[in-house]
Amino acid sequence: MQYRKLGRKGVDVSIIGLGAEYLEHAPLDTIVSVVNTALDEGVNYIDLFMASPDVRDNFGIALKDRRHRVMVAGHLGSTLKNGQPNRTRDSALCEHYFEDLLTRLQTDYIDIIMLFFVDEADDHDKVFGPGGLLELALRLQKEGKARIIGMSSHRVPIALKAVNSGYIDVLMLPINPAIDTLPGDIEVEAVWQASTYRQPRPERDSTPSRRELYHACAARGVAVVAMKPYAAGWLFNKKNPSGIVLTPVQCLSYALSQPGVCTAVPGCRTTNEMRAALTYLEATNEEKDYSAIDTNTIWKLQGSCMYCNHCLPCPVSIDIGTVTRLVDTARYAGNSLVATQYESLPVTASACTECGICAERCPFKVDVVANIKQAIATFGR
Ligand code: SF4
Ligand code: SF4
Repeated sequence: MQYRKLGRKGVDVSIIGLGAEYLEHAPLDTIVSVVNTALDEGVNYIDLFMASPDVRDNFGIALKDRRHRVMVAGHLGSTLKNGQPNRTRDSALCEHYFEDLLTRLQTDYIDIIMLFFVDEADDHDKVFGPGGLLELALRLQKEGKARIIGMSSHRVPIALKAVNSGYIDVLMLPINPAIDTLPGDIEVEAVWQASTYRQPRPERDSTPSRRELYHACAARGVAVVAMKPYAAGWLFNKKNPSGIVLTPVQCLSYALSQPGVCTAVPGCRTTNEMRAALTYLEATNEEKDYSAIDTNTIWKLQGSCMYCNHCLPCPVSIDIGTVTRLVDTARYAGNSLVATQYESLPVTASACTECGICAERCPFKVDVVANIKQAIATFGR
């Protein structure tokens, strides 16, 4: 397993996590085997947003004796009404479901307490305002029942507002090449409508882009958790409306290449699906190559770095993807916020001999040497 730091909190998190959504109605033995497969390979992040008692009980059994090895994300705002999933901002009800999660998981703390599904401006203000769920999360954190506060969202302006508030340390977002073709402020329902992908993207989209959000998170040390890296399986289907078709490894490679992303949490129904995600760890660079996304006609990628490192190896060992990512983050957020990360690179841009071999290899036709020069200008070496 490979691990990354969970943003400014500095905790090591496995780059492959487990999204439990599709296990909600699975039998106990399936959940136990999926959890065992994941944990045996070093997975240490599980997102458990569901409120159903059975799945909570089953995860409690599956994690027994190994609870301390895993970070569990539980969600404030995800409850049930008449047996159906129900998003609520009723603090008392949310606290009841939080305590229920502790009991059923047989634990006395949750690692990441997520403010669940905050997508609208008035909802954001309610959640972050007086008497809102943030207050509850802060109290639970003070009481030692929750460690780190996060938020899940699907819309860029709201997510950016929360990131800039300084209150959240983790942001959970859908990240996949299909959704990234869409404007940053699209409603979640529209993401799953075929017609959305046929509309021409406005030339001037005044809302911040998803990429700007990723850079803001990277700059501020807010850890990004990539949910829906397979676009709910769409990306495996040749007829999906985005026109992008990838393997699980390519999807994970895409999500993990985006700035700020610490872990991707694919939803896995079976041990085979969990193993398919874990093959990312052994995959070759060719298998991780997601440059096929460029075949999509609505995707205008040429000239824009995807931080994929398909241009490596560099003869002087520059990590071109990371250098370019840090330069881009500095462009969005100022270089002082990422200068330390740049300084920690074993080889910096000033080692470049301008041999140009990287640009020849880049599937996105990026002017790599120009970016390298920009890095020297930005960071001084
Ligand atoms: S320069 Fe090209 S190949 Fe290299 S990281 Fe950027 S997009 Fe990938
Ligand atoms: S041009 Fe610079 S960054 Fe690219 S491969 Fe050559 S030395 Fe490495």
